[in-house]
Amino acid sequence: MKIDGIENGIVLDHIKAGRSMLVYRYLGLDRVKSQVAMIQNCVSHKMGKKDIVKISENIDLDLEVLGYIDPGITVNYIKDGKQVRKASLELPEKLRNVLRCRNPRCITSTEQELPHIFRLADRERRQYRCIYCDTIAKKDEIRSMLP
Ligand SMILES: [Zn+2]
Repeated sequence: MKIDGIENGIVLDHIKAGRSMLVYRYLGLDRVKSQVAMIQNCVSHKMGKKDIVKISENIDLDLEVLGYIDPGITVNYIKDGKQVRKASLELPEKLRNVLRCRNPRCITSTEQELPHIFRLADRERRQYRCIYCDTIAKKDEIRSMLP
């Protein structure tokens, strides 16, 4: 895989600088069999600095998780060296097993098999609430679900 372009696969562009590792871990890119390149701190006219992740295979991406990490990320699908599709992201209305509820009295702390589901309560402030107990998720709590 060339570092400046790929023949087939996906390019995640405009990732906020320093977040590519989060993207990598959250999308489970360590399980991808083909080549994955992470480029940190690229110079961007729009953003100053940005990260880029290139995957040389058309894998099924969890666009909801990606949208939660950073809705500004652009997803470019590449086929035969050309961009064939572009997906735009947004903050998902619901997050399933991405955030973990920290309320010790929440039903999810006793019912281990229950999925942790959060709904978007305030788009402007990126605020999510547990659907069971209404607890507000802390900012960037996404990291807490990482192994
Ligand atoms: Zn809860």
